[in-house]
Amino acid sequence: MTIDLRSDTVTKPSKGMLEAMFSAKVGDDVFREDPTVIELEEKTAKLFSKEAGLFCPSGTMTNQIAIKTHTQPGDEVLCDAAAHIYNYEGGGISFNSGAQAKLLQGDRGRFTAKQVEENINANFDWLTRTSLVCIENTVNRAGGSYYSFSQMKEISDTCKKHKLSYHLDGARIFNALTATKDKTSDVGLLFDSISVCLSKGLGTPAGSVLLGTKEFIQRARRVRKVFGGGMRQTGFIAAAGVYALENNINRLADDHRRAKLLGETIKSLPFVESMMPVDTNIVIFTLSDKMQSEDFVNKLAKQDIKASGFGKQTIRFVTHLDFDDAMLERTILVLKAM
Ligand SMILES: *Cc1c(COP(=O)(O)O)cnc(C)c1O
Repeated sequence: MTIDLRSDTVTKPSKGMLEAMFSAKVGDDVFREDPTVIELEEKTAKLFSKEAGLFCPSGTMTNQIAIKTHTQPGDEVLCDAAAHIYNYEGGGISFNSGAQAKLLQGDRGRFTAKQVEENINANFDWLTRTSLVCIENTVNRAGGSYYSFSQMKEISDTCKKHKLSYHLDGARIFNALTATKDKTSDVGLLFDSISVCLSKGLGTPAGSVLLGTKEFIQRARRVRKVFGGGMRQTGFIAAAGVYALENNINRLADDHRRAKLLGETIKSLPFVESMMPVDTNIVIFTLSDKMQSEDFVNKLAKQDIKASGFGKQTIRFVTHLDFDDAMLERTILVLKAM
């Protein structure tokens, strides 16, 4: 058995998901004639109390479209130093929107309303106009940490007070809500726009949905076309999203349980120096000087376990729906024998 802990993006569609895809009703979505895409967009929007949705090929695209739709060139976007939109989207904030980022130093990727308040520029001609605040939940680079409802709400109140747009990079929002037990319908109300990823924990082959008001999504649809993201009979892929929303959310708790158990083993290994708290489905740990991440990854590869280095001494494991209890058991045995 091959075990892949590199990312929760490595999952393959299950039999049930494939069947849903094969039997999808489709049409040309650029003409708004694909019933399955419309179904997915409406279903996701309703879940988060939003008026409308926009199906896109990737989470990077939903985030970048949101930034482009919320800002003008020369504006400033407030985000955490660990943010995916800043670190892992190819410089898209400046490339696509001509905007710049101001990085806040949060607690494991989570900043506060007070930090937002302190970093809003005053209204002078020579200062950059602050127009957008982006949070990420859960925070990938910070080991899957999540925001509480009140933390998100306080930032929302601050944004309203200062007329800033508020975007949620929810690539792993269902992991966050599995941990906090907050309702999607309550969380959705806090934000002007939300990126919801279907191809990570939820296990579809591709796709993210951007959510917002009807007016916002109408403008975002134009930007999607300009970015080259207008797709045609994409209901085949959207059907996987509908299936995932119906079948793959409740099981995320299993991924969290398995990540916790992995963490307990890892913490006790003699060649592990430190580990971030395991809050959801991500385990990030740092090796001692005795072992470099490349050696560690190579040793695991020999045992048919794939992992990825996250820096010279650091490793990230991510649990997902193609990582079951038998694989967990085997991984723990291999780690203990190293
Ligand atoms: C993966 C990820 C994205 C973007 O996803 P892609 O679909 O790979 O473009 C955005 N934000 C976060 C936090 C992610 O982990």
